[in-house]
Amino acid sequence: MLDAGRTRAGVAADATRGLLVTGAAEVVTLAGGLRRGRAQGDPVIAPSGTAVACLDGWIVAVGPAPEAEEALASALAAAGRDSGAFDRLDASGATLTPGLVDAHTHLLFAGSREDEVVMRARGRTYLEILAAGGGILSTVRATRAASEAVLLAHGRRWLGQMLRTGTTTVEAKSGYGLDVPTELRLLAAAGRLAAEGPVDVIPTFLGAHAVPQEVRDAHPGDPAAATEAYVSAVIAEQLPAVAAQGIARSCDVFCEAGVFTADQARRILLAARTLGLDVRLHADELAPSGGAELAAELGALSADHLGSPSPEGIQALAAAAETGRPVVAVVLPTVPWFLGLPAREPARELIEAGVPLALATDFNPGTSPVTSLPLAMTAAILTLRLDPSEALVATTVNAAAGLGLRDRGALLPGLRADLVAWDVPTHVQIPYWAGSDLVRAVVARGRVLPNA
Ligand SMILES: [Zn+2]
Repeated sequence: MLDAGRTRAGVAADATRGLLVTGAAEVVTLAGGLRRGRAQGDPVIAPSGTAVACLDGWIVAVGPAPEAEEALASALAAAGRDSGAFDRLDASGATLTPGLVDAHTHLLFAGSREDEVVMRARGRTYLEILAAGGGILSTVRATRAASEAVLLAHGRRWLGQMLRTGTTTVEAKSGYGLDVPTELRLLAAAGRLAAEGPVDVIPTFLGAHAVPQEVRDAHPGDPAAATEAYVSAVIAEQLPAVAAQGIARSCDVFCEAGVFTADQARRILLAARTLGLDVRLHADELAPSGGAELAAELGALSADHLGSPSPEGIQALAAAAETGRPVVAVVLPTVPWFLGLPAREPARELIEAGVPLALATDFNPGTSPVTSLPLAMTAAILTLRLDPSEALVATTVNAAAGLGLRDRGALLPGLRADLVAWDVPTHVQIPYWAGSDLVRAVVARGRVLPNA
């Protein structure tokens, strides 16, 4: 069980004191990698008395406290350091889990759209809100006008909120620029926030989020031509600039009837892949649009939303998982909740079909201004009939896999020292105390961050 003395070369600049976390009432390791089907509900609870030892940002041992302490002392000695010079975190009575991973957010934008909530409450439709100057294009206007400093301050504020609810890794999409300079500025800001820490930020390019107003205006009365022209611009102008900048890890497309077709998404994502980016997509949020099928065809890292996948789409995702090319279904349960709509995501059906499931917040100013993954877990349990163990798997190891990250999402030697001590005796209570502040401490890259 112990893997003593493990240190990594090249982390000296980021050296941290050793850390020993002891006394937890429950240690949930999530060992075993991406899971699906019945295993989706198996979070793996360590024997009581298990401690976690960390050094230089990595977990060095998970095991009985005396052995973990010994492993930490030997790791320090092996690095030529004082074997007794480490900190202790007393997690008595707490539940210890890996840091949560939010696999789908639109972290960076300017402005807010609280007026639309009132409009919806008064029965105004999406199109009426759009006609009143609201919707996604209003965020695009505000974001284009925002300086990098404003975007960074906004990002730090909301990453801080996410950290306070246990999230240590956040995927962040661009997509509120819809032109080369703003898309690059958003990705640069995401990269800068990742470098600052303590929350790790994983940037995704989402130029194909919507068709910008100037392109619509250039094709009056012909929205299909406008969309086609914009797809060409994403492929010919935005993608090469994004790839040259080198910050984005993956490319996403909003594949939905009336937005971008599966064929347009395929062209964009294949172009992205030839430039070295991983691919993922917003798939079938509102209507079956061939998104799930396309995700399986392309071997995408994830297919997200899935409010209305076709039966063939679910089958295609199940077949992909069966043949060893799993596409993670990233379900976003706070979106229908915030829009006051019934939840349609077939989460249970996906699990039963053997599709690995993740949950994310979809943090964005229009449909989910929600930063808390525990709240998304609560929504998944109440509206999609997940159980708490399935929801924890969906926000740790499966979410990390959906981002293509193998170095986190579980408490295992050799993985990043990202962990959370929750002020509850079992993980089953994390989503139960809906909306409560349960985080006692967060450890990010081996550093203890008090819950401010
Ligand atoms: Zn989204």
